[in-house]
This record gives sequence, structure tokens and C-alpha cells, in this order.
Amino acid sequence: MMKKIFFTLIFSIFVLFAFGQNEQPYFQQEVNYDIEVTLDDKSHTLKGVTKIEYINNSPDDLESIYFHLWANAYKNQKTAFAKQQVQNGSTKFFFAKDNEKGSYTQISFEVNGQKVDWTYDEEHIDIALVKLNQKLRPQQSIQFRIPFEIKIPKYFSRMGHEGQAYYISQWFPKPAVYDRDGWHPMPYLDMGEFYAEFGKFDVKITLPEDYVVAATGQLQTESEKKFLDRKVRETNRYINEKYPRGSDRTLPLLEKDTFPNTNLPNKTIRYTAENIHDFAWFADKRFFVQKGKVAIGENNNVFTWAFFNKKEFHLWLNATKYLEQAVQFYSQKVGEYPYPHVTAVSNPYGALGAMEYPMITLVDRMFSANNLDVVIAHEVGHNWFQGILGFNERDYTWLDEGINSYYERLYEKNFYPDLKEQPLLNFLQEDGEIDLMELLKSSMQKENTHQAISTPVNEMTEMNYGIGSYDRTADIMGLYLTPHKMKGFFNQWKFKHPQPSDFIKYFDLENDKAFNDLIYTAKKVDYKIVSVSKSGGYRLKINNKNGIAVPFKISMIAGDQIRTQNVEGFVGEKTIQIPPHSEGLTFDKFIIDKDREIPDFNRKNNTIRTSGLLKKVEPFRLKFLGGVQNPTKTTMYWLPALGWNNYDKTMLGVVLHNNDLAAKNFEFAVAPMYGTASKNIVGTGVVKYNFFPESSLFQRVTLSMHGKRYSSRYDWRNKFYDDFTKLTPKLEFVFRKKRMVSSVEHKVSFRYVNISKNEGFTTIDNPTDVQRRKNNYYVNELKYTFNDSKVTSPLKLEFTAHQGEGFVRLFSNYKQFIPYRKGGKGATIRGFLGWLPQLDNPPALVGFTLGGITNEVSTRDYMFDENLLGRTQDLGIFSQQYFNRDARLRTLANQGSSEEWMLGLGVSSTIPGPLPIRPYFDAAIYKGFDFDKFKEATIFSYSGGVAIVGIPDAIEIYIPFFESKDITDSFLYETDRNTLFKRISFLIDLNALQRVGKETIRFY
Ligand SMILES: [Zn+2]
Repeated sequence: MMKKIFFTLIFSIFVLFAFGQNEQPYFQQEVNYDIEVTLDDKSHTLKGVTKIEYINNSPDDLESIYFHLWANAYKNQKTAFAKQQVQNGSTKFFFAKDNEKGSYTQISFEVNGQKVDWTYDEEHIDIALVKLNQKLRPQQSIQFRIPFEIKIPKYFSRMGHEGQAYYISQWFPKPAVYDRDGWHPMPYLDMGEFYAEFGKFDVKITLPEDYVVAATGQLQTESEKKFLDRKVRETNRYINEKYPRGSDRTLPLLEKDTFPNTNLPNKTIRYTAENIHDFAWFADKRFFVQKGKVAIGENNNVFTWAFFNKKEFHLWLNATKYLEQAVQFYSQKVGEYPYPHVTAVSNPYGALGAMEYPMITLVDRMFSANNLDVVIAHEVGHNWFQGILGFNERDYTWLDEGINSYYERLYEKNFYPDLKEQPLLNFLQEDGEIDLMELLKSSMQKENTHQAISTPVNEMTEMNYGIGSYDRTADIMGLYLTPHKMKGFFNQWKFKHPQPSDFIKYFDLENDKAFNDLIYTAKKVDYKIVSVSKSGGYRLKINNKNGIAVPFKISMIAGDQIRTQNVEGFVGEKTIQIPPHSEGLTFDKFIIDKDREIPDFNRKNNTIRTSGLLKKVEPFRLKFLGGVQNPTKTTMYWLPALGWNNYDKTMLGVVLHNNDLAAKNFEFAVAPMYGTASKNIVGTGVVKYNFFPESSLFQRVTLSMHGKRYSSRYDWRNKFYDDFTKLTPKLEFVFRKKRMVSSVEHKVSFRYVNISKNEGFTTIDNPTDVQRRKNNYYVNELKYTFNDSKVTSPLKLEFTAHQGEGFVRLFSNYKQFIPYRKGGKGATIRGFLGWLPQLDNPPALVGFTLGGITNEVSTRDYMFDENLLGRTQDLGIFSQQYFNRDARLRTLANQGSSEEWMLGLGVSSTIPGPLPIRPYFDAAIYKGFDFDKFKEATIFSYSGGVAIVGIPDAIEIYIPFFESKDITDSFLYETDRNTLFKRISFLIDLNALQRVGKETIRFY
């Protein structure tokens, strides 16, 4: 028993460590606000005074108080918000002009009528520490007076303006939370939310009188109530005018929504509220207003309000209905809504988000009315899970988002049983196929890019934030939450700050190892049926290797009859005895978790048949085009293949692949084709096996075999074709990142390239008798890649070594993008360095060249990596195809090769405006043969022109304007190259195109 005691001890320490911080009795501070603020809509500023009554309910003396000055998040590029924007790949704020940024332009603190010292936090300019002149004792209170002025930023995150539309949240100076665990000062973040003290609010807003304002709190100003009612009547008239009886109300208005150019005197409107921890307001002269009323329990007068613009007008026509539905739903399921109104505001200029504040939510651009309904339900739901249960959203995002997402699912199931989240994928998706969210969850876990749900937000990737805190947690809540118990928890903790430990305690999860594993570790659930045998009924051997012991159900299928058996969760291997069926049925199939109730990330191994030779092999299906994974079937997709090159001409065939968008070990895609001119079987293909080690130096190891075969020359005199076959086994190691949020990736790969050329030839003696010969060679390649995808300066560096018969070739490529404006505007710099330590009669042209060109004898592409339209063309349009090689001079150069060393540098830049044109300049220095001096020399070559860019790095056209004399001279004897048109080169890089395609699918 010793072992068990030891284990229990370790586990108790873990539990203590994870949830043991708050052994102190519960208390919460009270913070009451009295705010007066004036909006200046010319200078986009807020000026006012915040008075705060701070009541110390803690057992501690407080010498200073932390404040959040979150408007300062938009001040410069050094704030936590700015850095996170870059980390998450957004350059919107990075390229903000100075007049688009915002901050406190004035602020001072008085306590009980006396000025006090205060300082900014050393690291975060949006946190301040205010020192009190006297200690604040337990049960005592103090009065702050804080005059302030804010320059409102453009709308980058939650507070900002778009013209004269104002979205004002996280704006006033606000004390950080002091609770059982101490102070919680936190900088403002876009990804990462809030934690604040409960209290009363009394807010007076002064602004020009034609502004329509939506706000937290109960409106106290009679004239403003009448003003809003007038707006509602105007909106109703407008709706009837734009959508007369019988017209289609799902069609958009398609009208420009301009700000009225008015200059009216100010009005002051007053709001009050109790038991809230935040206050947001939104003001726009153009707002349309809709109003409704709903009964919640005893309270017949909960008002629903919707504020919206002409843009997305049609989506918002029924918004008060959605609010009514949501507030009733949550009131029934969780507890009665305690506030006087529930309001939704549209910001159709924002980017696909929505944000909760007490009583009010701001909703960005939406897809559809149904979508808006579900988003409103989610945000209204936050009134319960964050608004009333004041969770620390920043540190425990999973608590509020996870529980709220669980109820949002119930809402969706109730009101939209058929709503699919990704309408574009629907056409690919058949019954039995998993949905996009499941696909993402299972792929991330397969690739081990998922993180523990409890990971702090600054270490979390955007994907994990979006999927872990919301959907994966909702899955877990589905296992542990009972709505009845949630009501009890809600009543016990409303208007308080429950911690995870309080939740865990209430739901009796303290000793539930599975729950703790699911939340606090990156362990996965993967039950697998190993085998089935008949003995007295059935014996099922089930494995859950290193997994989480979640209880599950086994479904036993006998024709159309289904029986289920509950199984207690376990880790490791276990044999489950299934008793014989009472009515003598023979089961033909067993399925673990048939109804997808547990978060098993790999459902491919959950089914077994009781008879047949290959019990675990899923039925095979062939499907057109592509699809989403169906866990019970092995699918191969097919689609017609079509290709073209100058020798095979049109190529027809079929693509066979197994890409069902899920991350998997075994992948293949082959495209055998028939060359209509060469009458040759040609094509390309790849077969891969990916290893995803759970913990090692490597994130992924891939063993693959690539192959391709095409015709490469046509001898028109003797009418025969040359062709080549390339076979490449490859091993690639992708290193695990030190921090998952890091933008840096390291990769090492090794490949063995075998080229087999099959060439025809004739001899002088026998000029019409075509003979054939095989020409074989190999190249070993070792390559290290450093890739930093940081959006403000993406950089790629490669070091490559090639070794083959008679040569060793070392070279390095560098590429960096320096953006200078948002929207992909910027300069690209490329560098090259190459050295040939050994060159002794190699079987291919491996000397360094100024750029990639096709060639009669053999293309400079000795690796045959490129897909060229005319691999051996010297003349004609196909000889103008350029490909990336060595110094990468985009201008075609017939000259310039080195058998010793070469250095290259290229620059290109976007130009202002919409034209897809990029001037470029390329240069190289190399040791080569100088035809002027007729001897070996160090040569400097350069060229420049403009590139017309279709898809960057994949489809581009280069028009040369100037070049060094050696390049001009290299075409001296080629009459075919004497016009500008014939010197134009073009790039069609299919490999790059494929990469772009893959990334698009990934981010869809
Ligand atoms: Zn949410």
C-alpha cells in the first residue's frame, strides 16, 4: 500500500499547488464609481473626472492601489497589446499613424482631497501604482478623485472610433482587483479579457445632442428616454419604407452610411447601475434603434435594445428578438437576469468579433442573421459567466468562455439544430464526416500543437485560445456540468469572484483526476480497441496509452439494434467483458463513444468488427474531389489531372489522394498522366509518413518518397523524346519550439535525389537510327532552414550542402521582407552565397549561375525540382521561363557561371497604389570567365527592371530596363533575343503555388 500512499501524496501536492493559493476566507473589495465625462467629437477626446469610493473589505492594510489605465495600451509599440498584436500576426496597430494612436493625455490622482504620488508600472504603461498617504485599514474606505483626458484611438481593439462612431470600453481609470490571492494588475490585451471589482456606477455623459447612445446601466434622463423612443419610431418608419409589405427583408440596404454634418449643442445623459464591474458605452449619430420588452421571473420590464447602422441593417432587423430569446434561455437554464436591460450594438466596421460588457455587447461584422443570433446569445450569456459570476477571465479564460460556450451550444441545439458553422465547407461534408471544429481539435492534438487549457494567455497561441478555452472546454463541461448544479453554483457565487478552486469544489471535482488532467495538462484522450475475442460473450481489449481516464460508453451493434455499456475511465490496457446478449443476438460491431460525447481526439481506432479477417480495417470508399474525415471509413479521393509541357503537350490523368484536411501519419497524392504528344506515361507523386513525437526535440519527423517523370526534349528531326525520372527519398526534422507562441521554426532535412535521364541519340555514321542511353546520377542534399514568420520582419535563412559524383557544393539563401505599410507593402531583400570546394567532372551543370534558365543541353536545374514548361528550350517563349537559382538575377542572362564562388543580392519593393508592380534590382559578384579580357576574373553583374506580380513568389513577370555589359553581351549572337519582349522572363513556381494553397486551407 506504500506505493498508493506515495501516489496520493504526490497528487495532493499537485492539487495544493494548482488550487491551493486561496486558503484565506473569501472577501471582495467594493468600488463605487461616479464618472462625469464629455466627448469632443472634433478632436476625438474624452475629458472628465472619475470619483471612486474604494472600500477595503480585505483583512489587510493597503499602502497603495493598482490602477488600470488601459487607454494607454494604444500609446505606442511597446505596450503589451501592441506586442501581442504582432505576435498574433497583425500589423494593423504596428502601422498605425501617430494621429490614430491614443492614450491618456492627462491624469492625476487625489485621495480624500489630497494629491497623492503615483507611478507607471515599470513594464506596462497601462498600469499605475497609486501610493496612499495613509494606510487604508480593513473596513475603511477612501475617496479618489481622478481628473483625466483621453485621446481616443482609431478602432484597433475594443476602445476606439471610426470617424464619429465611438466605441468606448475599458476607458476610465479603474482599480485592479485585490482578492484572496493578492493584487491582479494586468496590462490591456486584445486576446485576453477582464477582471474587475463589483460596485455601483453613476455615469454622466456629455456629448452633442444628436448622438444616439447605448450604454451599460439604467438611463435616468427623461428627455433622453423620449429621444430614444423617437429614434425607435423613426427606425420603424424607415424599415417600412425600405422593406414594404411583402418584400424580402433578408436583402441588404446597399446604401452609404455617412455621418450627418451637424454641429449641435451638448446634452448630458445619466446612467446608474448596481452590482456590475464595468461600464461601456457606444455613441453614433446614425444609429437605428429597436426596442423590446421581456418578462424575467417577477420582473416584467427587462428591455431589449438593438443599435445598428445601415450597413448590415437587414441582419439586425430581428435583433431584439434574439436578445429576448437569449436572456430568457439563460435565465431559465442558469438563474434570473438581474439587470434592467439587455442591449446589442453593431459595429459593422470591426473584424469578426464581439465583446461582452455588463448589460451590453458590441458585435462586429457578421455573416448572416442566424450567425448574429448565436453570437448575441453567446455575448448575452457572458452576463452570467463573467458579468454576474465575476470570473478572472484573463487568468482563467476557460472558466467563462468554456462554460458559456457549453450553454451557447445548448442554445444553438435548441434554436438552430441544423446550423453549420462553416457554410463553405458544407458542400464537401457528408453525413458521418466530422465538422470543422472537430477536425481542428483532432488535428492539433495529433500534431501536438494543442496546449493545456489552463495555459496563461501570453503563452497561448491564437488557435489554442480560440479552440482550447472555448470549444475544448465546452466538451469537458459537457461531461461534468449538470444544469441543476450550475444553478446552485450561480446562486452561491453571483456578484462575486469565484476562482477555479471554488468551481472545482462545488462540482466535487477535487479528486477527479480525469478533470484535472483535461484542464491542467496537455494529455489527450485516445481510447483504442486493440482486439476482440469470443468467450462467454465478448472480450474487448482496449488501450488508452498515456491518456486521460475519462469514463466512456461502448456501443454494441447487432444489425439495427444498439446496446450500450458504461465503462469506467482507465489508463493503460484493460479487457472489458461483454456478456452474451440476453435475446441471443450476435453483435457484429463494437464502437467506443459512438455519439461523440468524450473528447477522444482520434476516432479512427474506436471501431472493431467481430468477424472477418481484417476486423479493424474500415470500409473503403472512393470519393470525388475531396472531403472531411469520416472516422469510420478509409477514403481515397480522386479528381481528373490535367497538365501541360512543351514536349508531352497536354497531359491527362487522374489525381488520387487522401487529404481529408485532418493531420495524419500516412499521406499520399499521386497523379499519373498520359502525355498526348509523347505517348509517354508521365506524372508526379508523393507518399509520406509523419511521426508526431509527444515529447522530444522534434515536433514532427517526416519520411517521404517523391517521384516524377516527364519528357524533357523533343528531337523534331528524328522524332524522338528524351525523358527523365526522378526519385527522392527524404527525411525531414522539424524542431519543437521552445515557446509555442514563438514565430521561429528550425528544420533540418536530408534527401537523396536520383535522376535517371533516358535520352535518344544518333551517330554520324547512322544519322537516322535512333539509339537510346540511360544517364544516371545522384545528389545528396543536407539542408537547414531557419524561418521567422514574425509579421514585422519575416525572415528565412537556408544553408544547403549538395554532394554528388565529383562535386561538393555549399550555398546559403537569405530572404527577408521589410514591411513599411499594412496590406503587404514593403521591400524584399534576397541574398546568396555559394562555394564549390570540390568540382571534378560532375554529371550535371552544378556551377553557380546568375539565375535559373532553361538550356538545350540540359537545364541548369540539375535537381529537377522545378516544373518547367520547356526544360531544354533555348528559343521561344518557354526559354523565357525563369526559376529561382543561386544569385537569382530575375533578368535572363545567358552568361555568368562560376565554378568557384558567387555572391548575390537582390532587392525589390512594392510601390504605392493598387498596381501589382515591383521595381527590382539584382547584382552578383563571382569568379568566372571574363570574355572581354578572355581570362578568369572577378566579375560584377547587375540588372534591374520591374516585376508584375500575380501571386508573390509564384507567378511573376520581369521586364528588364538595364543591365551590366556582360549580360547584354551574352546575347550578342542570339538574334532571337534582340527585342525587349524576348528578354522578358516569367516565373511560374508550382511548388510555391502549392504552399500558398495549403496555407489558405489551413487558415480557412
Ligand atoms: Zn465569449
